[in-house]
Amino acid sequence: MKLHIHDTLKREKIEFVPRNPSRVTLYVCGPTVYSYAHIGNARPVVVFDVLFRLLRRLYGEASVVYARNITDVDDKINKAAIEQGVDIDVITNKFADIYNQDMATLGALRPTLEPRVTHNMDAIVRQIGDLVGGGHAYAAEGHVLFDVESFKDYGRLSNRSLDDMIAGARVEVAPYKKNPQDFVLWKPSKPGEPVWESPWGPGRPGWHIECSAMIEANLGLPIDIHGGGHDLIFPHHENEIAQGVCAQHRHDDADYSRYWMHNGFLTFEGDKMSKSLGNVKLVHDLIKEVPGEVIRLALLSAHYRGPLDWTGDLISQTRSRLDGLYGTLRKVKDVAIHDVVVPAAVMEALCDDLNTPRALAELSALAKAVEVAESDTARSMAKSNLLAAAGVLGLLQQDADAWFTAGADEDLSARVESLIAERIAARAAKNWPEADRIRKEIDALGVDVMDSPTGATWKLKGGV
Ligand code: AMP
Ligand code: ZN
Repeated sequence: MKLHIHDTLKREKIEFVPRNPSRVTLYVCGPTVYSYAHIGNARPVVVFDVLFRLLRRLYGEASVVYARNITDVDDKINKAAIEQGVDIDVITNKFADIYNQDMATLGALRPTLEPRVTHNMDAIVRQIGDLVGGGHAYAAEGHVLFDVESFKDYGRLSNRSLDDMIAGARVEVAPYKKNPQDFVLWKPSKPGEPVWESPWGPGRPGWHIECSAMIEANLGLPIDIHGGGHDLIFPHHENEIAQGVCAQHRHDDADYSRYWMHNGFLTFEGDKMSKSLGNVKLVHDLIKEVPGEVIRLALLSAHYRGPLDWTGDLISQTRSRLDGLYGTLRKVKDVAIHDVVVPAAVMEALCDDLNTPRALAELSALAKAVEVAESDTARSMAKSNLLAAAGVLGLLQQDADAWFTAGADEDLSARVESLIAERIAARAAKNWPEADRIRKEIDALGVDVMDSPTGATWKLKGGV
């Protein structure tokens, strides 16, 4: 099956052809680790996790190399370190660990590589050196700047002309810049900030150079797919292309990344998520209230390129949707499964520019097939298909019983199980008032009981 993706640079949906099908490379810009990630930051993580899973399915697990960087040099990190009187490592290690744990709760696989800026300083200095050597960058007053006039395609990704950008530049231009659009590759550190040696004086790298240098050093150029949120198109990705292409003394955009994918933005109840509006939802907090899988499915409920509005309704509808799917799986929990290929309808949806809403609709159809299967063989086949399809989406990976009882402590579980047994005994003895009384007692524990021909199961009310 052929994968088609919408390429931001070509502005159309095109067939994906990797440079080398036995080493498919994907890079996504990762977090700046000075604080907790918000739910908007989790959107690219979950979207590109599905792409990673799909590529592994298409080309083989060992053939896909996915890198997501960790930005551990940044003004906000320096500020937090100074405020707390600690080394930057204390901040960055803490938040990198929290980030990885939180994203794992959303079912995201660890990328193959997680390069950090502080571990790649040699590669960064080397790439800046290549740019200076090739006449694409110049040193001035302790800074090194990229000369945008030296790259003819500057502005192609974001579809802006250099002349318009210059005309629109309102910010005060630093006197050492030849052109207002020239951007920083290296700059002096302020007193008290971490500092690294370079041929242009001690200092630290600019933000954009870290990605192009880490890509060159860790994946090799050009890569197949570069991703991130659409806010990164300009200036970050525009600058990455300029650096990555020119450092190799090449001229063509495709010499950096062959395809570009950008996810749309997540809003919160119609508004931009921002600290000033006080509506920033942190993944770390949300996962204490909502199962990670609900968050994951909600993030996949809209097509990745479009906007996604995060609301209470979205969460409750997604919860019910997962209750339905796990409810189906619980009915067939004793049915054996076998290895099957992922059903074509789901693969087709995902291969059509990662159409997750369509893939999720197909998942519901596969669940329906489990419900209506008339023989053990058909049920086993249908269950296998459902689980295989859900696997590419990173869904339905937990035990169905555990899904429904998650959040209940051991004491509550034991109490509910014993009440259910008592109720079964009361009903067997046709003692209806006693059976009713027990049902009310269970109800008062905040638990719903679902009767079925094979016995009774339960879940926490309003939750899972
Ligand atoms: P940042 O830490 O701001 O560089 O963001 C990390 C990643 O999250 C980048 O790929 C951003 O494009 C993405 N991102 C940030 N805010 C949102 C949002 N509200 N919706 C979707 N993606 C976002
Ligand atoms: Zn980047």
